[in-house]
Amino acid sequence: MSRGEGAELIARKDQIMLRKWLQSMPAKMHSVGMPQERTLPMSDTARTDTAEIGADWEDKLLPMPGSDEEWKARLTPEEYRVLRRAGTEPAFTGEYVDTDEEGMYRCRACGNPLFQSEMKYHSGCGWPSFTEAISPDAVELLDDNTYGMRRTEVRCSRCHSHLGHVFPDGPRDRGGKRYCMNSVSLNLEER
Ligand SMILES: [Zn+2]
Repeated sequence: MSRGEGAELIARKDQIMLRKWLQSMPAKMHSVGMPQERTLPMSDTARTDTAEIGADWEDKLLPMPGSDEEWKARLTPEEYRVLRRAGTEPAFTGEYVDTDEEGMYRCRACGNPLFQSEMKYHSGCGWPSFTEAISPDAVELLDDNTYGMRRTEVRCSRCHSHLGHVFPDGPRDRGGKRYCMNSVSLNLEER
């Protein structure tokens, strides 16, 4: 083998390693223009609270798309805009703003149980509001400094889709938090 061939071989090996490394990264890290987005490794999302939310909660979990294209195919354009692009539905337009039906609110993107109807209250803000999530593990909270505001973004801990924000102006006798959610991020499973 000449020196030239050896160098070429190494270069090709480097390329393969680089490609493998890129493939191992979450798809969202390739996309640009979404500075508020953060992807967590899936190993961080294992849930252990099955007893709390019932034995069948896992049956209704949807398979996780492997790419942004798959998310687009599964969700409506509005669901995709809010859930996968951290959008916000207009106030007082969502289907769950005034809902009082009893049941479980799941993530519309992946089926993860998020809120019980007992945690819902009428905040008057124009979006369905909850005092707490079904479990601290059900959601993940991220600092969100977009649009010149300091807010705490709420995402589904399983699929990392955007759900809304949590504010410290909820009912004081129930913990003081207002989980201000987009209806389009939720799916109510009535009891
Ligand atoms: Zn989800």
